[in-house]
Amino acid sequence: MKKICDLQLFLLDMDGTLYWGDKLIEGAKDFISFLDSGGIGYVFLTNNSSKGAQEYIKRMRDFGFPCTSRNVYTSGMATAEFLNKNYKGQRVYLMGTEALKREFEDYNIILTEQDPEIVVVGFDMELSYSKIEKACSFLQSGAKFIATHPDTVCPIDKYRSIPDCGSMCAMITAATGRIPEFIGKPKRTMIDQMSIKWNVPNESIAMVGDRLYTDIAAGISAEATSICVLSGETNEEDIASSKWKPDYVFPSVKELLEELKAGLGE
Ligand SMILES: [Mg+2]
Repeated sequence: MKKICDLQLFLLDMDGTLYWGDKLIEGAKDFISFLDSGGIGYVFLTNNSSKGAQEYIKRMRDFGFPCTSRNVYTSGMATAEFLNKNYKGQRVYLMGTEALKREFEDYNIILTEQDPEIVVVGFDMELSYSKIEKACSFLQSGAKFIATHPDTVCPIDKYRSIPDCGSMCAMITAATGRIPEFIGKPKRTMIDQMSIKWNVPNESIAMVGDRLYTDIAAGISAEATSICVLSGETNEEDIASSKWKPDYVFPSVKELLEELKAGLGE
């Protein structure tokens, strides 16, 4: 664990950390502006694989955050990189959105609707019965099973959520008995990939987020500095009773910024 002012790269969860739905969390814009103007690295890092990098760049810019392709990393991108590293050239049946399909094509993943060696499941907001049927059939024929992330629900505001990739996988598991290998948080893979891309050692990376069992668990597993913000789904009691203890806790990124400024003598 490093002092806040010694951290070189901030990996930032989005929902519940920087915004809720379309509403910015107070201080989020100041925080990102400070990192950007101070030359401190930052990446908007999400398990949500329903959108592609280009859509996230636009979304972050619409919020007023400075953002280029270097500042966005999704579990869909991480999964494509994982496939290229471990299963290069193997054919993939993708149960995911058209946006994720385009992303996979950008990574030169070979997509097929027939006899794939691998089935990949993403957060498919365009899901149909025919897609589920195909995925199950290929898995029953022995295809490998990989999923972008394990989240069972995706929050849409502070009180409501919708079924996410983990729930879709649970349905497939119930039908086939097959369990996927998940790529996104809480696995350390995304943090390790960012460490390589930004050339920053894990110990100088901060994983900032509002979920203990994904954001903080990933930070701990990667031996990065974990920072929990209470602007999302976690409160102090949750932390007290959790097995995942963050290195730092702040009410929101607003107070995290104050701490960072104080440490830098500003
Ligand atoms: Mg979150």
